Amino acid sequence: MNIIFLGPPGAGKGTQAQIVCANLGIPQISTGDMLRSAIAHQTETGLKAKSYMDAGQLVPDAVVIAIVKERLTDVDCKNGYVLDGFPRTVEQAQALAVFAGIDKVVNIAVQDEVLVKRLSGRRVCPACGATYHVALLSGETKCAADGTTLIQRDDDKPETVLNRLNVYHRQTAPLIDFYQRKGILCVVDGSQGLEHVTTAILDTLGATR
Ligand code: AMP
Repeated sequence: MNIIFLGPPGAGKGTQAQIVCANLGIPQISTGDMLRSAIAHQTETGLKAKSYMDAGQLVPDAVVIAIVKERLTDVDCKNGYVLDGFPRTVEQAQALAVFAGIDKVVNIAVQDEVLVKRLSGRRVCPACGATYHVALLSGETKCAADGTTLIQRDDDKPETVLNRLNVYHRQTAPLIDFYQRKGILCVVDGSQGLEHVTTAILDTLGATR
């Protein structure tokens, strides 16, 4: 099954995609992770993307479309995948429709107030990508999995968070309508606890655990 996870930044797309993909045995394709890796490796794509990402803006459509198009040709995608963070504009969705058939779009809906709290308190492990929230860390500064010092993503700083939410409402939210009209959209309440959200997503995908 080819699936898109749609939702505002901080809705839990990445966390849920990781769990659901492990469950279904299909790859998670996160454009945010691919772009961060490109920046870390100082590739041409990374150099093009960095200033946009630091400002909380979307990376130009052509750059992101090209990396997804190439990734979907990999052999591990042949039995399905979850797109996490792509498409983010109607132009990206239209381009995707030309090179991929999408079966379901899961919109993980969360109110802005909850998102601001989640994003500005988020800490990540730069080594393994695990995410934490300061409210649950009780002062701990290291990753529980590998002991690496946790960091705050540059784009999780308060001023950038508000910008990312504005960008989401302006450029990405229209995709809800876009996929609703195609009859493949389902909505999950992403403000519930992590396990509830996972169950709701698997139910809506008709997947058993
Ligand atoms: P994420 O990890 O999904 O929150 O993405 C982090 C940042 O990467 C976003 O704020 C954008 O700057 C960039 N990005 C990720 N996916 C896309 C996309 N589909 N289109 C444009 N920019 C993207």
